Amino acid sequence: MGQNSSPHKPNRTEVLAVTGMAQNVVASSPERDDKLWFDDGTVVLVVQDTEFRVYRGLLEDQFPIFKNLLSLPQPVTHDRDNHRDYPCPVVTHASSCKNLCARRSRPFRRAFASGTSTTWPDVEKEALDYLKMLFPSALSRPTISWPPKGFHPSSAIVVVNIARLTGKHSLLPIALYRCCQLDANITQGFIYSDGYRETLSWEDLGRCFVARSRLTQETYRLYTRSFLAASDTSRRRKEPCRSNNTCWEAVAAKKFFTVANGTADSLEHPLPFVHLEDHLPDDVRDTTFCDTCWKMFRECEEEEHRVLWQRLPSFFGLDLLNWG
Ligand SMILES: [Zn+2]
Repeated sequence: MGQNSSPHKPNRTEVLAVTGMAQNVVASSPERDDKLWFDDGTVVLVVQDTEFRVYRGLLEDQFPIFKNLLSLPQPVTHDRDNHRDYPCPVVTHASSCKNLCARRSRPFRRAFASGTSTTWPDVEKEALDYLKMLFPSALSRPTISWPPKGFHPSSAIVVVNIARLTGKHSLLPIALYRCCQLDANITQGFIYSDGYRETLSWEDLGRCFVARSRLTQETYRLYTRSFLAASDTSRRRKEPCRSNNTCWEAVAAKKFFTVANGTADSLEHPLPFVHLEDHLPDDVRDTTFCDTCWKMFRECEEEEHRVLWQRLPSFFGLDLLNWG
């Protein structure tokens, strides 16, 4: 894993989220969670419409992110509408907390029900292992296609935020790349079933816009370079064309670039790791190259895919050790 192993430092958004809320009274009247309300608890969490009062030490132990968030100055806060005093820090509406302590989150409940630190790391590891499978750092045929059943494509936004929060930066290149495939969702964010909206940070949104156009350029460069490599005489000697080399005559080359150019209309998003052949209707495919030449072209594309995959983190300003 190439991510930084040092403890997560809260980014600007998180800092604003915490300081902003700490300075204010609780705006509405959240419902108290009776099971996770300890009268001698040392921190109050307000997550959407539910408030929890739990122990700061245990919270930080189970969810290390709170260690950073709660290290910031926390003024004593009170609920003006309900005349409730909170002589302890109140954390409200932190989007970063939502992922971890959603109202029905089993890890969150189990963490406090058991009072031990053995459950959450296991659950966290299981969840992150699953995400690593969906957002691999190696270029390989995915075992699960994206988005998996029950996932919306904009779930990639949540994965980016989780990767940022947990420091699992090896998830970022593919998660951000998936974000580049989104339409308006990229700015609208991922909307949970209860209406809560989670968005990319402005920084990551900017990275996606820049990377999207660069990856689209790369998609076409990749077609061109693969064509030039596949048309190389020495390569073609190894696997002779089945159409007596007509696949590589000038007229055929012109046809190839017409076909490649034609995919621009159907490519709304950069898809540099998808074979050109896969974009073409069967009749166009079958009249462009013979099977042997398509196979050779695919091999050339795959060489380009490997090179581009190595460079993928750099498109998002990431420098990861052990990537790929
Ligand atoms: Zn051929």
